[in-house]
Parts: sequence; structure tokens; C-alpha cells
Amino acid sequence: MHDLIHRAAQHLRTATHAIALTGAGISTPSGIADFRSAGTGLWEQTNPMEVATIYAFRQNPARFFNWIQPLAASIRQARPNTAHAALAHMEQTGIIHLVITQNIDGLHQRAGSTQVAEVHGHVREATCMSCYLVVPSESYQAPVIANGAVPHCPHCNGVLKPNVTLFGEALPAQAMLMAVQATRQCDVMLVAGSSLEVSPAADLPELALGHGAKLIIVNLTETHLDRCADVLIQGDVADILPRIADQIDHAG
Ligand SMILES: [Zn+2]
Repeated sequence: MHDLIHRAAQHLRTATHAIALTGAGISTPSGIADFRSAGTGLWEQTNPMEVATIYAFRQNPARFFNWIQPLAASIRQARPNTAHAALAHMEQTGIIHLVITQNIDGLHQRAGSTQVAEVHGHVREATCMSCYLVVPSESYQAPVIANGAVPHCPHCNGVLKPNVTLFGEALPAQAMLMAVQATRQCDVMLVAGSSLEVSPAADLPELALGHGAKLIIVNLTETHLDRCADVLIQGDVADILPRIADQIDHAG
């Protein structure tokens, strides 16, 4: 294990444009359940295609907010963990240039990362489905978190949709542009806590590998790109990332 951490640190320290790609596994140590993990996920009980599509949202927003309420509550309570902190530290020391994340919880920014591409959106704002007014979440989230109430637009009373990407919706264009441009430039990509099952996370590492970038994967479970990784560490990101950051700092 120490050798793997040493090698990961060396790749990152000598990179000119390292980036990170994170998924649900980096937020599970903060108490946010992985949607997809067997037995515990929100999606075990309900088929997401019945509630978490843009079509279902338009037809039945009450059902959507009832379904999302436990996740909204856990995001509200969550604090960044040592893995988020390690990535923020690596940005501050000039190692990591961008964190691309599938997570909607905003924990990277709360840990101190400033360069973050949220490719599945975020929960800091919502948009009115009728007049497209953008509303900060503080103004409506308390009843959503308390009892799954449907939030309404302060201007026209239309239904507010959180700025997260639902099935059937396009990914946020600006975040995706940042993510793809950084991936094209990167010479090292650190994948942390993503099983690389969902697009675009499934595709970006292949884009990086395609132009010769090194791939470091830190994840508890297997991914389809494990055999392509220059360094593969099967472990908890909250344990491993601080050790990698520490190793970079003390390499002289
Ligand atoms: Zn409105």
C-alpha cells in the first residue's frame, strides 16, 4: 500500500496539469448515501426512472420532492471529510487544477476547492419551471428538508426545480465544457470515489488515456478501467487521499 501511495504522489507531484474526478464514494464518509450502492441506496426502493426524470418531475413534482427529501436532509447535515480536504489542499499547493465531480452536494467548495466542475449540477439553486427565475436554495429548502414540500417560485408561483441534472436532461453546458477542456489538457487524472458507471464520468478517463495521460484510481470497488490505471488503490478515499497529499508535501 505504501508503494502505491508513493507512486500516486510522485505522478501528481511531477504532473504539469493534474485534475481529479470524484463520485459518490468521496461523499459517503460524510454521511451521504451512495444512490446506487446495493441495499442502502435511495434507488433500491424506488426506480429512479419513475421519479428522477425530467418527465416525471413535470408530471408529479410532489412525488419527486418526497423521494429526494432524505437526500436533501443528509446533504444539509453533511460536512466535508478528509478526502475533500486533501483535494482542496492539493489545489492550494498547485497540484490539482480542477475537480470534476458527479456529486451535487457542494462539499468540495465547502472544503476549500475553488476550481470545481459540477457535471450533474448542484443543490445551491433552483430554477422556476414557468418563468426560469433562479432562486437560491436558502429561500425555499427548509420545508423541502422537513417534509418534502414542493417549493414554489416567489415571482410566479411556478414549481421550482433544483439545479441538479435529472434523467432526460442535458448536462450543464458550462461545467461539461470545463471538464472536457481540462481532460484534454491533463497529464494525470486522479479518480477518487467513482465507480465510473455513469456518463460523463465513464467517458472522461478514456479521453484522458487517449492522449497519454496517467490514470490514478482510488476506489473501494472495481471499475471497468482498473486494468488501464497506472496506479490502482482499492481503499477508502478518506484514508488514502490525505496520505497521498502528505506524501506530496514531504517529498521535498
Ligand atoms: Zn416563476
